[in-house]
Amino acid sequence: MHKRIEKIEVFVFERPRDATYLGDLGEGQFALGDSHIVRRFNGTVYPRFDRSLVLRLTDTDGATGWGETYGLVAPKAAAALIEDLLGPYLMMLDPARPDATWDALYELQRVRGYWGGYLADTLAALDIALWDLYSRSRGESLQAALGKPGAGHLPAYVSGLPGASKAERLELAQNWQARGFDKVKIPVSHSDDGDITGEFYSLRNGLGDGQKIAVDVHWTCTADDAIAMANSLAPFNPWFFEAPVASEDIAAQHAVGKAIACALALGEEWRTEWDYRPRAGAASIVQPEMGHTGVTQFLRIAERGRKDGTQLIPHATIGLGIFANASLRAGLAAQAEAHEFQHTIYPANAVLLDGAATCDAGAFHIPDSAGHGTIPNEDGMAHLRPLLTL
Ligand code: MG
Repeated sequence: MHKRIEKIEVFVFERPRDATYLGDLGEGQFALGDSHIVRRFNGTVYPRFDRSLVLRLTDTDGATGWGETYGLVAPKAAAALIEDLLGPYLMMLDPARPDATWDALYELQRVRGYWGGYLADTLAALDIALWDLYSRSRGESLQAALGKPGAGHLPAYVSGLPGASKAERLELAQNWQARGFDKVKIPVSHSDDGDITGEFYSLRNGLGDGQKIAVDVHWTCTADDAIAMANSLAPFNPWFFEAPVASEDIAAQHAVGKAIACALALGEEWRTEWDYRPRAGAASIVQPEMGHTGVTQFLRIAERGRKDGTQLIPHATIGLGIFANASLRAGLAAQAEAHEFQHTIYPANAVLLDGAATCDAGAFHIPDSAGHGTIPNEDGMAHLRPLLTL
Protein backbone atom coordinates (compact mmCIF):
# COMPACT_ATOMS: atom_id res chain seq x y z
CA MET A 1 0.00 0.00 0.00
CA HIS A 2 1.46 3.34 -1.06
CA LYS A 3 1.45 6.32 1.20
CA ARG A 4 -1.26 8.82 0.43
CA ILE A 5 -1.76 12.52 1.00
CA GLU A 6 -4.19 12.63 3.89
CA LYS A 7 -4.57 16.34 4.58
CA ILE A 8 -4.28 19.54 2.55
CA GLU A 9 -4.27 22.91 4.33
CA VAL A 10 -4.37 26.14 2.33
CA PHE A 11 -3.47 29.55 3.78
CA VAL A 12 -3.16 33.14 2.63
CA PHE A 13 0.10 34.79 3.64
CA GLU A 14 -0.28 38.52 4.15
CA ARG A 15 2.13 41.08 5.52
CA PRO A 16 2.09 44.88 5.32
CA ARG A 17 4.98 46.58 3.54
CA ASP A 18 6.83 49.72 4.66
CA ALA A 19 7.10 50.91 1.05
CA THR A 20 5.30 49.89 -2.12
CA TYR A 21 7.10 47.34 -4.29
CA LEU A 22 9.20 49.09 -6.99
CA GLY A 23 8.94 52.35 -5.00
CA ASP A 24 6.36 55.13 -4.96
CA LEU A 25 5.80 56.55 -8.42
CA GLY A 26 3.42 59.29 -7.28
CA GLU A 27 1.48 60.34 -10.39
CA GLY A 28 2.55 57.12 -12.05
CA GLN A 29 0.14 54.95 -10.09
CA PHE A 30 -3.45 54.85 -8.91
CA ALA A 31 -5.29 52.88 -6.25
CA LEU A 32 -7.58 49.99 -7.18
CA GLY A 33 -9.64 49.28 -4.07
CA ASP A 34 -7.90 48.90 -0.71
CA SER A 35 -5.53 46.11 -1.70
CA HIS A 36 -3.96 47.06 -5.01
CA ILE A 37 -2.32 49.78 -7.07
CA VAL A 38 -1.97 49.97 -10.85
CA ARG A 39 1.23 51.29 -12.38
CA ARG A 40 0.55 53.39 -15.46
CA PHE A 41 3.85 52.68 -17.22
CA ASN A 42 2.92 49.07 -17.90
CA GLY A 43 -0.72 48.90 -16.77
CA THR A 44 0.08 46.16 -14.26
CA VAL A 45 -1.62 45.64 -10.89
CA TYR A 46 0.53 45.24 -7.75
CA PRO A 47 -0.56 44.54 -4.16
CA ARG A 48 -0.09 47.13 -1.43
CA PHE A 49 1.23 44.37 0.85
CA ASP A 50 3.13 41.12 0.46
CA ARG A 51 0.71 38.31 -0.23
CA SER A 52 0.91 34.73 -1.50
CA LEU A 53 -0.90 31.42 -1.23
CA VAL A 54 0.77 28.85 1.03
CA LEU A 55 -0.16 25.22 1.56
CA ARG A 56 0.85 22.26 3.68
CA LEU A 57 0.44 18.61 2.70
CA THR A 58 0.46 15.80 5.27
CA ASP A 59 0.80 12.17 4.26
CA THR A 60 -0.46 9.00 5.95
CA ASP A 61 2.88 8.70 7.82
CA GLY A 62 2.45 12.21 9.23
CA ALA A 63 5.24 13.65 7.03
CA THR A 64 4.62 17.19 5.77
CA GLY A 65 5.61 19.36 2.83
CA TRP A 66 5.14 23.09 2.27
CA GLY A 67 4.30 24.83 -1.01
CA GLU A 68 3.60 28.36 -2.18
CA THR A 69 2.31 30.18 -5.24
CA TYR A 70 1.13 33.62 -6.30
CA GLY A 71 -1.60 35.24 -4.24
CA LEU A 72 -1.24 38.82 -5.43
CA VAL A 73 -4.74 38.72 -6.90
CA ALA A 74 -7.64 36.38 -6.02
CA PRO A 75 -5.82 33.82 -3.85
CA LYS A 76 -9.16 32.08 -3.30
CA ALA A 77 -9.09 30.99 -6.96
CA ALA A 78 -6.30 28.52 -6.20
CA ALA A 79 -8.08 27.32 -3.06
CA ALA A 80 -11.26 26.69 -5.08
CA LEU A 81 -9.37 24.61 -7.65
CA ILE A 82 -7.84 22.53 -4.85
CA GLU A 83 -11.18 22.04 -3.12
CA ASP A 84 -13.15 21.17 -6.23
CA LEU A 85 -10.69 19.10 -8.26
CA LEU A 86 -6.99 18.94 -7.57
CA GLY A 87 -7.12 18.09 -3.87
CA PRO A 88 -9.43 15.06 -4.10
CA TYR A 89 -7.43 13.66 -7.06
CA LEU A 90 -4.09 14.31 -5.37
CA MET A 91 -5.29 12.27 -2.40
CA MET A 92 -5.73 9.27 -4.74
CA LEU A 93 -2.21 9.44 -6.21
CA ASP A 94 1.19 8.15 -5.08
CA PRO A 95 2.95 11.19 -3.57
CA ALA A 96 6.37 9.63 -4.13
CA ARG A 97 6.29 10.66 -7.79
CA PRO A 98 5.92 14.46 -7.82
CA ASP A 99 6.62 14.98 -11.54
CA ALA A 100 4.19 12.24 -12.57
CA THR A 101 1.64 13.81 -10.22
CA TRP A 102 2.07 17.20 -11.91
CA ASP A 103 1.38 15.53 -15.27
CA ALA A 104 -1.68 13.69 -13.95
CA LEU A 105 -3.23 16.81 -12.41
CA TYR A 106 -2.48 18.91 -15.52
CA GLU A 107 -3.98 16.27 -17.80
CA LEU A 108 -7.39 16.57 -16.12
CA GLN A 109 -8.19 19.71 -18.11
CA ARG A 110 -5.59 20.07 -20.86
CA VAL A 111 -8.08 19.36 -23.66
CA ARG A 112 -10.19 22.25 -22.39
CA GLY A 113 -7.24 24.58 -22.89
CA TYR A 114 -6.39 25.08 -19.22
CA TRP A 115 -2.65 25.26 -19.87
CA GLY A 116 -1.51 27.93 -17.49
CA GLY A 117 -2.73 30.88 -15.45
CA TYR A 118 -4.27 30.24 -12.05
CA LEU A 119 -4.50 26.51 -12.72
CA ALA A 120 -0.76 26.15 -13.27
CA ASP A 121 -0.01 28.39 -10.29
CA THR A 122 -2.08 26.05 -8.14
CA LEU A 123 -0.21 23.06 -9.55
CA ALA A 124 3.05 24.85 -8.71
CA ALA A 125 2.12 25.17 -5.03
CA LEU A 126 1.14 21.50 -4.83
CA ASP A 127 4.25 20.43 -6.75
CA ILE A 128 6.64 22.37 -4.49
CA ALA A 129 4.98 20.83 -1.43
CA LEU A 130 5.17 17.33 -2.95
CA TRP A 131 8.88 17.68 -3.78
CA ASP A 132 9.45 19.00 -0.25
CA LEU A 133 7.58 16.09 1.31
CA TYR A 134 9.29 13.58 -0.99
CA SER A 135 12.84 14.77 -0.25
CA ARG A 136 12.19 15.34 3.48
CA SER A 137 10.80 11.80 3.76
CA ARG A 138 14.06 10.50 2.28
CA GLY A 139 16.05 12.66 4.69
CA GLU A 140 17.73 14.55 1.86
CA SER A 141 17.74 18.08 0.50
CA LEU A 142 15.73 19.07 -2.54
CA GLN A 143 18.95 19.68 -4.45
CA ALA A 144 20.10 16.16 -3.55
CA ALA A 145 16.80 14.73 -4.78
CA LEU A 146 17.46 16.60 -8.03
CA GLY A 147 20.97 15.21 -8.37
CA LYS A 148 23.21 17.74 -6.61
CA PRO A 149 23.78 16.84 -2.95
CA GLY A 150 25.36 19.23 -0.48
CA ALA A 151 25.24 22.88 0.52
CA GLY A 152 26.12 25.52 -2.08
CA HIS A 153 26.20 29.14 -3.16
CA LEU A 154 24.35 30.87 -5.95
CA PRO A 155 25.43 34.34 -7.10
CA ALA A 156 22.69 36.91 -6.38
CA TYR A 157 21.79 39.98 -8.38
CA VAL A 158 20.25 42.96 -6.63
CA SER A 159 16.81 43.61 -8.11
CA GLY A 160 15.69 47.22 -8.21
CA LEU A 161 17.13 50.45 -6.86
CA PRO A 162 14.10 52.19 -5.34
CA GLY A 163 15.61 55.67 -5.00
CA ALA A 164 13.82 58.90 -5.94
CA SER A 165 16.67 60.36 -8.01
CA LYS A 166 19.51 59.20 -10.22
CA ALA A 167 22.00 60.14 -7.49
CA GLU A 168 20.07 58.19 -4.83
CA ARG A 169 19.81 55.13 -7.07
CA LEU A 170 23.55 55.22 -7.79
CA GLU A 171 24.26 55.52 -4.07
CA LEU A 172 22.06 52.48 -3.36
CA ALA A 173 23.89 50.50 -6.06
CA GLN A 174 27.26 51.56 -4.66
CA ASN A 175 26.21 50.48 -1.17
CA TRP A 176 25.32 47.04 -2.51
CA GLN A 177 28.56 46.90 -4.47
CA ALA A 178 30.52 47.68 -1.29
CA ARG A 179 28.76 44.70 0.31
CA GLY A 180 29.99 42.35 -2.41
CA PHE A 181 27.12 42.47 -4.90
CA ASP A 182 28.55 42.96 -8.39
CA LYS A 183 25.27 42.44 -10.25
CA VAL A 184 22.24 44.72 -10.33
CA LYS A 185 19.04 45.05 -12.36
CA ILE A 186 16.92 48.17 -12.73
CA PRO A 187 13.37 48.39 -14.00
CA VAL A 188 12.93 50.72 -16.97
CA SER A 189 10.68 52.87 -14.77
CA HIS A 190 13.63 53.72 -12.48
CA SER A 191 14.92 56.62 -14.55
CA ASP A 192 14.41 60.37 -14.62
CA ASP A 193 11.73 61.24 -17.20
CA GLY A 194 12.21 57.91 -18.96
CA ASP A 195 15.89 58.59 -19.69
CA ILE A 196 17.15 55.03 -19.40
CA THR A 197 20.33 55.85 -21.35
CA GLY A 198 21.19 58.55 -18.80
CA GLU A 199 20.50 56.04 -16.02
CA PHE A 200 22.93 53.55 -17.52
CA TYR A 201 25.51 56.30 -18.04
CA SER A 202 25.27 57.20 -14.34
CA LEU A 203 25.44 53.60 -13.13
CA ARG A 204 28.23 52.50 -15.45
CA ASN A 205 30.40 55.49 -14.54
CA GLY A 206 29.66 55.17 -10.84
CA LEU A 207 30.02 51.39 -10.57
CA GLY A 208 32.83 50.69 -13.02
CA ASP A 209 33.29 48.25 -15.87
CA GLY A 210 33.29 45.17 -13.63
CA GLN A 211 29.67 45.62 -12.52
CA LYS A 212 26.95 43.67 -14.31
CA ILE A 213 23.96 45.97 -14.98
CA ALA A 214 20.72 44.55 -16.41
CA VAL A 215 17.46 46.28 -17.31
CA ASP A 216 13.90 44.99 -17.00
CA VAL A 217 11.83 46.65 -19.74
CA HIS A 218 8.58 45.31 -18.24
CA TRP A 219 6.91 44.46 -21.56
CA THR A 220 6.56 48.16 -22.51
CA CYS A 221 8.06 48.24 -26.04
CA THR A 222 7.27 47.30 -29.61
CA ALA A 223 9.99 45.22 -31.25
CA ASP A 224 11.36 48.28 -33.09
CA ASP A 225 11.39 50.42 -29.93
CA ALA A 226 13.05 47.63 -27.97
CA ILE A 227 15.80 47.23 -30.58
CA ALA A 228 16.38 51.00 -30.59
CA MET A 229 16.57 51.04 -26.77
CA ALA A 230 19.01 48.13 -26.67
CA ASN A 231 21.19 49.86 -29.29
CA SER A 232 21.20 53.07 -27.25
CA LEU A 233 22.37 51.12 -24.19
CA ALA A 234 25.02 49.11 -26.05
CA PRO A 235 27.87 51.56 -25.25
CA PHE A 236 27.26 50.85 -21.53
CA ASN A 237 27.55 47.09 -21.96
CA PRO A 238 24.27 45.94 -20.36
CA TRP A 239 24.27 42.46 -18.83
CA PHE A 240 20.84 41.49 -20.13
CA PHE A 241 17.71 43.05 -21.55
CA GLU A 242 14.58 41.59 -19.90
CA ALA A 243 10.99 41.28 -21.12
CA PRO A 244 11.05 44.11 -23.67
CA VAL A 245 7.84 43.27 -25.57
CA ALA A 246 4.36 41.88 -24.85
CA SER A 247 4.50 38.41 -23.24
CA GLU A 248 2.35 36.78 -25.91
CA ASP A 249 4.12 38.33 -28.92
CA ILE A 250 6.43 35.47 -29.83
CA ALA A 251 7.33 36.97 -33.22
CA ALA A 252 8.44 40.21 -31.53
CA GLN A 253 10.50 38.26 -28.99
CA HIS A 254 12.33 36.45 -31.79
CA ALA A 255 12.83 39.71 -33.71
CA VAL A 256 14.38 41.43 -30.69
CA GLY A 257 16.51 38.42 -29.76
CA LYS A 258 17.92 38.27 -33.28
CA ALA A 259 18.65 42.00 -33.56
CA ILE A 260 20.24 43.03 -30.26
CA ALA A 261 23.84 42.61 -29.20
CA CYS A 262 23.23 41.91 -25.52
CA ALA A 263 21.47 38.91 -24.01
CA LEU A 264 17.66 38.80 -24.19
CA ALA A 265 16.12 37.41 -20.98
CA LEU A 266 12.59 35.96 -20.95
CA GLY A 267 10.47 33.65 -18.87
CA GLU A 268 9.15 35.07 -15.59
CA GLU A 269 5.54 34.67 -16.74
CA TRP A 270 5.91 31.13 -18.12
CA ARG A 271 4.22 28.20 -16.42
CA THR A 272 5.38 25.20 -18.41
CA GLU A 273 7.90 23.97 -20.94
CA TRP A 274 5.15 24.51 -23.51
CA ASP A 275 5.60 28.26 -22.98
CA TYR A 276 9.32 27.89 -23.62
CA ARG A 277 9.21 25.72 -26.73
CA PRO A 278 8.00 28.26 -29.35
CA ARG A 279 10.46 30.82 -27.92
CA ALA A 280 13.50 28.53 -28.15
CA GLY A 281 16.28 30.49 -29.84
CA ALA A 282 14.82 33.90 -28.99
CA ALA A 283 16.19 34.27 -25.47
CA SER A 284 19.74 33.52 -24.38
CA ILE A 285 18.72 33.67 -20.70
CA VAL A 286 15.64 31.88 -19.28
CA GLN A 287 14.10 33.15 -16.03
CA PRO A 288 11.57 30.61 -14.74
CA GLU A 289 9.58 31.69 -11.68
CA MET A 290 9.14 28.85 -9.19
CA GLY A 291 5.82 30.33 -7.99
CA HIS A 292 4.40 29.71 -11.48
CA THR A 293 6.27 26.58 -12.54
CA GLY A 294 6.75 24.49 -9.44
CA VAL A 295 9.87 22.33 -9.30
CA THR A 296 8.77 20.00 -12.09
CA GLN A 297 8.25 22.59 -14.81
CA PHE A 298 11.13 24.77 -13.59
CA LEU A 299 13.45 21.85 -14.28
CA ARG A 300 11.88 21.01 -17.62
CA ILE A 301 12.29 24.63 -18.79
CA ALA A 302 15.86 24.72 -17.46
CA GLU A 303 16.73 21.44 -19.17
CA ARG A 304 15.30 22.48 -22.54
CA GLY A 305 17.06 25.82 -22.23
CA ARG A 306 20.36 24.14 -21.37
CA LYS A 307 20.15 21.98 -24.48
CA ASP A 308 19.59 25.15 -26.50
CA GLY A 309 22.61 26.86 -24.93
CA THR A 310 20.72 29.34 -22.73
CA GLN A 311 21.73 30.43 -19.26
CA LEU A 312 19.40 29.92 -16.30
CA ILE A 313 18.79 32.96 -14.05
CA PRO A 314 15.58 32.33 -12.07
CA HIS A 315 13.06 35.06 -11.30
CA ALA A 316 11.95 35.95 -7.75
CA THR A 317 8.50 37.31 -6.97
CA ILE A 318 6.64 38.64 -3.93
CA GLY A 319 5.95 36.01 -1.27
CA LEU A 320 6.77 34.44 2.05
CA GLY A 321 9.90 32.77 0.64
CA ILE A 322 8.99 29.08 0.43
CA PHE A 323 8.97 29.17 -3.37
CA ALA A 324 12.09 31.33 -3.33
CA ASN A 325 13.98 28.69 -1.36
CA ALA A 326 12.69 25.92 -3.64
CA SER A 327 13.91 28.02 -6.57
CA LEU A 328 17.36 28.48 -5.04
CA ARG A 329 17.76 24.74 -4.53
CA ALA A 330 16.39 23.78 -7.94
CA GLY A 331 18.58 26.53 -9.42
CA LEU A 332 21.61 25.11 -7.64
CA ALA A 333 20.84 21.63 -8.99
CA ALA A 334 20.26 22.97 -12.51
CA GLN A 335 23.50 25.01 -12.47
CA ALA A 336 21.92 28.44 -12.60
CA GLU A 337 24.23 31.31 -13.47
CA ALA A 338 22.71 33.56 -10.79
CA HIS A 339 19.40 34.18 -8.99
CA GLU A 340 17.32 37.32 -8.57
CA PHE A 341 17.54 38.84 -5.08
CA GLN A 342 14.47 40.85 -4.09
CA HIS A 343 16.19 42.78 -1.36
CA THR A 344 13.04 44.66 -0.33
CA ILE A 345 11.12 41.38 0.14
CA TYR A 346 13.28 38.31 0.68
CA PRO A 347 15.20 39.11 3.91
CA ALA A 348 12.19 40.71 5.62
CA ASN A 349 10.02 37.64 5.07
CA ALA A 350 12.80 35.06 5.54
CA VAL A 351 12.66 35.83 9.27
CA LEU A 352 9.19 34.23 9.24
CA LEU A 353 10.71 30.95 8.10
CA ASP A 354 12.96 28.47 9.86
CA GLY A 355 15.81 27.35 7.62
CA ALA A 356 15.78 29.98 4.85
CA ALA A 357 18.92 30.52 2.79
CA THR A 358 20.78 33.73 3.64
CA CYS A 359 21.99 36.28 1.10
CA ASP A 360 25.13 38.29 1.69
CA ALA A 361 28.50 39.05 0.06
CA GLY A 362 26.91 38.72 -3.38
CA ALA A 363 25.48 35.23 -3.03
CA PHE A 364 22.73 33.09 -1.59
CA HIS A 365 24.07 30.53 0.85
CA ILE A 366 22.00 27.39 0.54
CA PRO A 367 22.12 24.82 3.35
CA ASP A 368 22.05 21.05 3.02
CA SER A 369 18.91 20.66 5.18
CA ALA A 370 16.06 18.35 4.19
CA GLY A 371 13.49 19.31 1.54
CA HIS A 372 13.52 22.94 0.40
CA GLY A 373 14.59 23.64 3.96
CA THR A 374 11.91 26.11 5.01
CA ILE A 375 9.01 25.87 7.44
CA PRO A 376 6.98 28.84 8.71
CA ASN A 377 7.99 29.57 12.32
CA GLU A 378 5.68 30.90 15.02
CA ASP A 379 5.82 34.46 13.61
CA GLY A 380 5.29 33.05 10.14
CA MET A 381 2.23 31.05 11.23
CA ALA A 382 0.80 34.25 12.71
CA HIS A 383 0.80 35.72 9.19
CA LEU A 384 -0.99 32.73 7.66
CA ARG A 385 -4.79 32.91 7.49
CA PRO A 386 -6.45 29.50 6.97
CA LEU A 387 -8.54 29.33 3.79
CA LEU A 388 -9.27 25.64 3.37
CA THR A 389 -8.67 22.24 4.96
CA LEU A 390 -9.29 19.00 3.12
MG1 MG B 1 10.89 41.14 -14.65
